[in-house]
Amino acid sequence: MKVVVFTGAGISAESGLKTFRGEDGLWEGYKVEDVATPEAWRKDPELVQHFYNIRRKAVLDAQPNAAHQALVKLESKFQVTIITQNIDDLHERAGSKHVIHLHGIITKAQSSLDPSLIYDIQGTEIKMGDRCARGSQLRPHVVWFGEPVPMMQTAIDECRKAYILLIVGTSLQVYPAAGLINFPPHYAQKILIDPEAQQLNRVDSEIQSVAAKASIGVPKVVDQLLSVVK
Ligand code: NAD
Repeated sequence: MKVVVFTGAGISAESGLKTFRGEDGLWEGYKVEDVATPEAWRKDPELVQHFYNIRRKAVLDAQPNAAHQALVKLESKFQVTIITQNIDDLHERAGSKHVIHLHGIITKAQSSLDPSLIYDIQGTEIKMGDRCARGSQLRPHVVWFGEPVPMMQTAIDECRKAYILLIVGTSLQVYPAAGLINFPPHYAQKILIDPEAQQLNRVDSEIQSVAAKASIGVPKVVDQLLSVVK
């Protein structure tokens, strides 16, 4: 039986990685348009590079938490695909086998000329002057606001096969990603785990709300699902 898990920044919050819609609407003190758009890269590539170099270091210093780990346990009885909006690698480091990164992954670099040229990063930094095989500057392998989301169709195809959709730690405000929750078949069970679940879920009565932090709510829901399947 297929379970699709759609995760956002909230699942990594208890690993010490800040979410992005804090009370001030900033991402680690920066306006999103200054660091996470193609326009920002054109205007000030050093600032953008610096921002992601700091984020990358924080990701590499962070550890998966009980929520990432519980999702690995789910694989003992279900076919699990994780679709994450996160650019960290905590699902992989916890041991999840099938992870789709909708918005890229910060531990890789890509050519600023040809996004299909993708490289592992040695160490924590991409430096100005680091170049791809075609000679253009390397940038973080992340999808910026206003850029196409190349993994979207793959993610839609996965959602269409889901019997259960778990939605964890996302404000469901970033599109097209947030639209994925509409693709599972009508019989699929949908469960949203987020401290703000009730407020987020005002519009969709088909989604069951679990208002809890990920480290509490995800292991609880995983144990329930494992207990009902032989
Ligand atoms: P968001 O910041 O818009 O929303 C975060 C959600 O997490 C909120 O609904 C909040 O209630 C919830 N939350 C907070 N603490 C939680 C906890 N302990 N357990 C469970 N949920 C908790 O996040 P988003 O919807 O993922 O959109 C943000 C975008 O910014 C993403 O596309 C992502 O690429 C990027 N981002 C990524 C990271 C990361 O990779 N860790 C961190 C920040 C932002």
